[in-house]
Amino acid sequence: MELIDNHTHLQDELFRGKEEFYLDRAQKLGVTRVICAGQDPEFNRRAIELSQRFANVSAMVGYCPDVAKDYDQKAEDQLIDQLETPGVVAIGEVGLDYYWDESPRQVQREIFARQIELAHELKMPVDIHTRDAFADCYQILKNSNLEYGAILHSFNGDVQWLNKFLDLNVYFSYSGVASFTKATEVHEAVRQTPLERLLVETDAPYLTPKPYRGRQNEPGYVYYVAQAISKLKGIPLEEVAKATYDNTVSVYGLS
Ligand SMILES: [Zn+2]
Repeated sequence: MELIDNHTHLQDELFRGKEEFYLDRAQKLGVTRVICAGQDPEFNRRAIELSQRFANVSAMVGYCPDVAKDYDQKAEDQLIDQLETPGVVAIGEVGLDYYWDESPRQVQREIFARQIELAHELKMPVDIHTRDAFADCYQILKNSNLEYGAILHSFNGDVQWLNKFLDLNVYFSYSGVASFTKATEVHEAVRQTPLERLLVETDAPYLTPKPYRGRQNEPGYVYYVAQAISKLKGIPLEEVAKATYDNTVSVYGLS
């Protein structure tokens, strides 16, 4: 059985100098590949560094909503250079965050839409962060060309949102939240997500799944996310692993 953690932050300070240790631990749980999600120039740069250091690490780069206010022509030129670097497989994470509101909402929407356009120009998928902003996220995606794939990272919407986004042909990536006892809306969404649209992630070091909730998350724990999904769907873990592995390889164009 093999699993991929399609959205993790192994470049985070908390893993510094211990990346190999955490990748080894992940291997022991069957997690053979990880994708490091960028957020800002520093995180983007470090994600690329890790993808160059480890054969089983890929990177994505992008301007997340917090730093959307810093996105200008110079930022875009640098981003394009980075996106053309081998080992970089997507634009991400980008999107809308109306919870933290670190950039004005209008700026968040513009920069999100611009980066989706860029992803299309470069024939790459886009990995999406959305918090307290499903309606605007949906509008932007509906008006975008998603020919090269889009993933809703750590999807935490209910079945109604699931069905709306399913019509747009996006992928749904579930995190440790799917293992939380009280996340009943997410449980129902998991049950109703078609296997061919399902991905798994940790978003480490955040969102640690049960049974390790409360401790620091790490890429290997995507095993427990897959396990929670197998229980919710009432299908073997191997089936969840196979489907999510294949979907991840396909949408990110991993070789
Ligand atoms: Zn993330």
